[in-house]
This record gives sequence, C-alpha cells and structure tokens, in this order.
Amino acid sequence: MHEYSLVQALISRVEDEARRRGALKIHGVSVRIGELAGVDAGLLQTAYDTFREGTGCAGVPLTLRQVAASWSCPACRRAIPRGEPLHCAACRTPAKLDQGGDALMLDGIDLEVP
Ligand SMILES: [Zn+2]
Repeated sequence: MHEYSLVQALISRVEDEARRRGALKIHGVSVRIGELAGVDAGLLQTAYDTFREGTGCAGVPLTLRQVAASWSCPACRRAIPRGEPLHCAACRTPAKLDQGGDALMLDGIDLEVP
C-alpha cells in the first residue's frame, strides 16, 4: 500500500535527523498532508503505528495535519479563490497548485538534544 512506503520513508528520515543531531529521544513527529496528495490520514496513522515498533520512532506519537490545496497564478501571483476556474482572471495564465497541496511533508520533529 502507498501509505506503508510513505511511512517507511518518513521513519527513516526521522531516524536520520535524530542521529545527525545526536538526539537522546524523539518526543513527536508532525506531518502535513496536502489535500491532493492522495494520502488517507487514517491509513497513514495505522501504517505508522504498525511500522514504528522496532524503529527509532517506537512509542513516538505522530501528529497529522491536513492542509487544503490552494492555487495561484504563476505569472502575477494572484491567488485563485476556491471554486473558481483554474486560470488567472487578470492575465489568463493557467493556475498552478501551490506548494504542499499535493505533497506529504515532514512538518517537524520534536527532539531531545543534549
Ligand atoms: Zn495572473
């Protein structure tokens, strides 16, 4: 399943980061899920709960935040209001999805660093 490979990648990134900073403990991990990322938050949570055992993330809570997709004009930066046609009303340039709207992003890691 898609969510399982995402979680494996997420956990190894968190472990790398913790190692790099010489962390004593990981207190929490937070992740943002873009509305158009095609990721199911429930499945992601379940996958994480399954995979974290035996990793550096064992017992570490995961916080998921879903973010709405937004669009803007790549030419004049005008934001395209939700529900409007996906092109710029000012210069007719096709709208571009703002960063994060279709991605899964590691938002933060709460580390205990000596
Ligand atoms: Zn424009």
